[in-house]
Amino acid sequence: MKLLVTGGAGYIGSHVVRQLGEAGHDLVVYDNLSTGHRWAVQHGEFVLGDLADRHQLELVFARHKFDGVLHFAANIVVPESVENPLKYYSNNTRNTLNLLSVMDQFGVDKLVFSSTAAVYGMPDVVSLTEDTPLAPINPYGASKLMSERMIMDLSNASSLRHVILRYFNVAGANPDAKLGQATPEATHLIKVACECVNGVRPGMKIFGTDYETRDGTCIRDYIHVEDLAKAHVIALDYLREGGASEVLNCGYGRGFTVREVIDAVKRLSGVDFPVEESGRRAGDPAALTAENSRIKKVLGWIPDFDDLDVIVGTALKWEAEWQRRQRS
Ligand code: UDP
Repeated sequence: MKLLVTGGAGYIGSHVVRQLGEAGHDLVVYDNLSTGHRWAVQHGEFVLGDLADRHQLELVFARHKFDGVLHFAANIVVPESVENPLKYYSNNTRNTLNLLSVMDQFGVDKLVFSSTAAVYGMPDVVSLTEDTPLAPINPYGASKLMSERMIMDLSNASSLRHVILRYFNVAGANPDAKLGQATPEATHLIKVACECVNGVRPGMKIFGTDYETRDGTCIRDYIHVEDLAKAHVIALDYLREGGASEVLNCGYGRGFTVREVIDAVKRLSGVDFPVEESGRRAGDPAALTAENSRIKKVLGWIPDFDDLDVIVGTALKWEAEWQRRQRS
C-alpha cells in the first residue's frame, strides 16, 4: 500500500515505519522533527512538514495517491498538557482536523490513529474495555478524545474506515538497538529510569506513594513498542481487506507499579541510582490496565514481548547506544 505516516520520525512512528517498510509498503513520512529524528526514518520518503500547514499537506496528497494514513504526530506529555492545554488542542486536535479534511478532499479512506488510555480518565474499574466510559482528566486525553470523535463522525458520514488504537504505556526498543526512544527531555517512567542508569540524570522521583494500589504507587500496563508496531501493520491489512471501523485497546492486560518498574531497571542494569519519594503528579490516575480481548479477536494480534524484563532490557540497551551515539 502507498501510505502517509505522520509523526513517523518519532519513537513509536519510527518503529512502525520500519515494520511497514520491511512488509513492503511504500511510505511517505511527514514530520516536523519537533521531537523526532531524521535518522529514525529508515524507510520511504521523508517530508519535513507540519500538520498545521494545510497547504503543504495538500501538495503532498496531490503528489502521491495514498491508500491510507497512519497518524502518529502529536504531543504526548500529560503534565505539559496540564500546563499548556492550547498546545495540545492545536497540535493534537486541530491538526487532526486538518489531516482529516485533506484526506476527505482527496478521497483517502483508511486511517490508523494513535489514541491513548488517557481518554478513560480516572476509571473506577481496574481493567478497561473499549466500552469503559470516556472521561479524560487531563488536556492530553481530552485532545485525543476529541480527535477520536472527529474521526468517528467522518467515518459515519463518508467512505472513511478507521482503526483507533488506544495505547497504554509504550516502552522498550527494537532489540537490535537501532531504534528507540530519543525524545529530548523525556518524562516517561522507563525512559527516565534508563537515563539514571546512564548517568544522564543524577536520580529520579516517584510521583505519589499514597495511591490505593499494592505498594502505593501508580499501576500502568507497559507494552513493548514492537508489539504495538505490529498491531498497526495488522490493522492496515484489516482495513485493506474491508474491515469495519474499530476502536481497540493496545496493552497486555496486566500492570506494574512505579516501584516494580524502577526495581526491574535497577536489577537488570546492576546500577542503584537515587530515588526520591515525592507528591502526586497532576493528572495521574491510580491504575490503568487494558482489557485486550477485542484487539486479539478483531486483528488476531498476538504479542511477542509481554515481559517486563524484556521491555526494560531493550530500553536499557537502547539508552546505552543512544548515549554512546550522542557522545561520538
Ligand atoms: N512516574 C514517576 N516518576 C517519573 C516519571 C513517571 O513516578 O519520573 C510515574 C507517573 O507519575 C505515572 C507512571 O510513572 O504514575 C507512568 O508515567 P508516564 O509519564 O511514564 O506515563 P503516563 O501514564 O503518564 O502516560
